Amino acid sequence: METVTIQNLSAYNKQDVLLKGWVYNIRSIGKIWFVILRDGTGLVQGVVLKGEATDKTFAMEQDLNREDAVIITGMVRMDPRSVGGYELAIREIQVVSHVSEEYPISPKEHGTDFLMTNRHLWLRSKRQHAIMRVRHQTVKAIRDFFDSQGFTLIDSPIFTGNAVEGTTTLFALDYFERSAYLTQSGQLYQEAGAAAFGKTYCFGPAFRAEKSKTRRHLTEFWMVEPEMAYCNLDENMDWAEKLVCFIVNRILETSEVELDILERDMSFLERIIAPFPRITYDEAVILLVDQGTDFKYGTDFGAAEESLISEQFNQPVMIHRWPAEIKAFYMKRDDINEELALGVDMIAPEGYGEIVGGGQREDDLEILMNRIRHHDLPMEPFKWYLDLRKYGSVPHAGFGLGLERTVAWLCGTKHIRETIPFPRTMTRLEP
Ligand code: ATP
Ligand code: MN
Repeated sequence: METVTIQNLSAYNKQDVLLKGWVYNIRSIGKIWFVILRDGTGLVQGVVLKGEATDKTFAMEQDLNREDAVIITGMVRMDPRSVGGYELAIREIQVVSHVSEEYPISPKEHGTDFLMTNRHLWLRSKRQHAIMRVRHQTVKAIRDFFDSQGFTLIDSPIFTGNAVEGTTTLFALDYFERSAYLTQSGQLYQEAGAAAFGKTYCFGPAFRAEKSKTRRHLTEFWMVEPEMAYCNLDENMDWAEKLVCFIVNRILETSEVELDILERDMSFLERIIAPFPRITYDEAVILLVDQGTDFKYGTDFGAAEESLISEQFNQPVMIHRWPAEIKAFYMKRDDINEELALGVDMIAPEGYGEIVGGGQREDDLEILMNRIRHHDLPMEPFKWYLDLRKYGSVPHAGFGLGLERTVAWLCGTKHIRETIPFPRTMTRLEP
């Protein structure tokens, strides 16, 4: 008999199959009982009926526990009322391993802290499973997008000697006889990559020792960072827009089942369509003041301001041309106003906050050296970075898109800790 997976059951209607998985739930209505089976690809209801099942299997009802590992044989039957549209008429259940203790995660309400402590088990739950599958599809969508657009994957290192975004949020560690940092961003290396390959991206973990405990910050998160040679700020925004549209469309195509489990209103995603509104920082500030806030010009937007701005549009909003003082040293200044940096943030709709940060990079050697001095950064570790301005410097730009914040928005999950398998925050290092 063929071993099949739950997600492929529709191809086996009226056939006998073998499923390998775990007991998700059991319920009984007397002469007939049901076992919900999970196999990692989905859930299916198995029906155990006297006569259809072997006598031994029919008598198993009291002995089966949640999370028992089981191999089940039975016949696939179309059933429009069932989740997934199919059910399994069970013939035989073989127990591979039996759970003798009560499973810690019961259907009753648990606090998030308890669930996070049991994250290794919580991942088996329907909602968490759905979120991880959307994450998987999002990663694949991102790779497919860049791979189909002529980008080359150039992995940036995790150990670095450079403090890119300032030292306050860096994780320092002993590195033989010197100190090193965990990367906060792979960008500087992508700039080297773009000069060698034209268009590159890296996609990996980034680390930030953020002492903030917001629902949008992890200490370890994943970021995709494309970088393009011969690219200005406007073209950079085009790329960010195209990427986000591609991801949203892919998720709508592939993840209907998961979004349904998550009770995500898909119309919020269906209406995402380019071009996204593009407003300057100055315009965003006017908008905030018009809304009655007492926002101070020259500071960064917090979660409240981002939500207020995004509420004005049903689309992701791109905010560009920021006060240079609050942006990184490598950002190129606006020709028209030297006080402004050619940076861009994309704010997701529905209050999910900033998902993209990027901009055009300074490509002039002298100016860049002055900036490094102005920011009190040591010149030595940037020697190689400055070389990129000595040898064939061109206008170039790029951005970083945070995977977890993007998945949180796609799934409609309020806290990003549920969008990564094993979240790392200020207070959580286990499991
Ligand atoms: P924020 O101001 O929200 O802390 P940032 O401006 O420091 O973010 P960037 O340096 O622009 O972030 O990083 C690019 C993207 O990486 C962000 O738009 C966001 O999606 C994601 N990101 C940044 N920091 C974190 C974090 N601590 N946890 C999860 N994702 C993050
Ligand atoms: Mn940012």
